[in-house]
Amino acid sequence: MSKDSLTTGRFGSYGGMFVPELLIQPLKEVAEAFERFKKDKQAQAELQRLLLTFAGRPTPLYHARTLSDELGFQLYLKREDLLHGGAHKTNNTLGQGLLAQFMGKRKLIAETGAGQHGVAVAMIGALLNMPVTVFMGERDIKRQQPNVKRMQLFGADVVSVTGGSKTLKDAINEALRYYVAHSTETFYVFGTAAGPHPYPTIVRQFQEVIGREARRQILEQTNRLPKKVIACVGGGSNAIGIFSGFLADSEVELIGVEPAGGAPLNYGQPAILHGALSYALQDRHGNISESESIAAGLDYPGVGPEHSALKDAARAEYVTVTDAAALSAFHQLCTKEGIIPALESSHALAHAVSLKGKLKKTDLVIVNLSGRGDKDIDQLPPLTTHP
Ligand SMILES: *Cc1c(COP(=O)(O)O)cnc(C)c1O
Repeated sequence: MSKDSLTTGRFGSYGGMFVPELLIQPLKEVAEAFERFKKDKQAQAELQRLLLTFAGRPTPLYHARTLSDELGFQLYLKREDLLHGGAHKTNNTLGQGLLAQFMGKRKLIAETGAGQHGVAVAMIGALLNMPVTVFMGERDIKRQQPNVKRMQLFGADVVSVTGGSKTLKDAINEALRYYVAHSTETFYVFGTAAGPHPYPTIVRQFQEVIGREARRQILEQTNRLPKKVIACVGGGSNAIGIFSGFLADSEVELIGVEPAGGAPLNYGQPAILHGALSYALQDRHGNISESESIAAGLDYPGVGPEHSALKDAARAEYVTVTDAAALSAFHQLCTKEGIIPALESSHALAHAVSLKGKLKKTDLVIVNLSGRGDKDIDQLPPLTTHP
């Protein structure tokens, strides 16, 4: 993407700021503050200090030798599962929390579906001593009790949203209503590289650290660039984070993996959803349709606009993986490498597994392991026990 697109919020014809009049001024203030934040030496030093000493960066790049032998190419895992909080989301919530402080805001709000983004915001609110309110659908609160408890442990206020389908999109509507009324003192922490400008740009830039590190680490370890870089795509933040490190290396193939039950880039059409133009899942009347995935973090009918542009430009390829293939890859990583991956990350891994026998032994493949899977173990199909 050109430098220009990162300040105007346009990625080819995608992106933009399609929001009610009342939101335009607050969003412009966030965009303008972000430009100053990036150039502010003190703010950047504080971000670096906390990435290193609180979040635990850099995360390792791990050569998975047993699986490599089995698959017939060299598999490397970028270990975002080892980041504090258990997933790449901390890169974003820490960055946006510091941006909120830089703007003099006193309060953080967020919406959450499965609860993972809500937990990541609550954690940063505790760190930065800022009160946090998380809007969450009533149905999701019932389904995601452990994450509700985590948010409360960090001192966050979880507001139950009872309108509509009582899930994520109703929580987003409620959070936006609150934001319109309280934007003077409140910062809205958005969870993925989607939504209206400036969020796709802000989230991408806070996640770029994954790609920067991964590129440096693969060169240090092997002296070569990878043939493929693979990441799962929900809203697209972990994927754009690792892709950004290799975008300029035209020989590196970038592959985004969508869940088969929620694949806007594979099965959707361009539409305006949550403030931006991007691919989205729609029914035959053009209404946004529901997605369905075993991985809660990938269960979103839309996707960030930069991925739509990368797809149309054929700079990245987007494929799908079924729940069954993701589960199989999940178990393979558990038993072969001693790592429990998130079900989201297992989608990226499953695509790598599907390349078995198709690559040369010397080919390097990096999979972004976006998070750890401890959160998922109660949702697994029954395991067979041995007497
Ligand atoms: C939230 C989440 C995702 C999906 O979000 P993206 O914005 O697409 O990265 C993927 N993996 C994990 C572990 C998550 O928690």
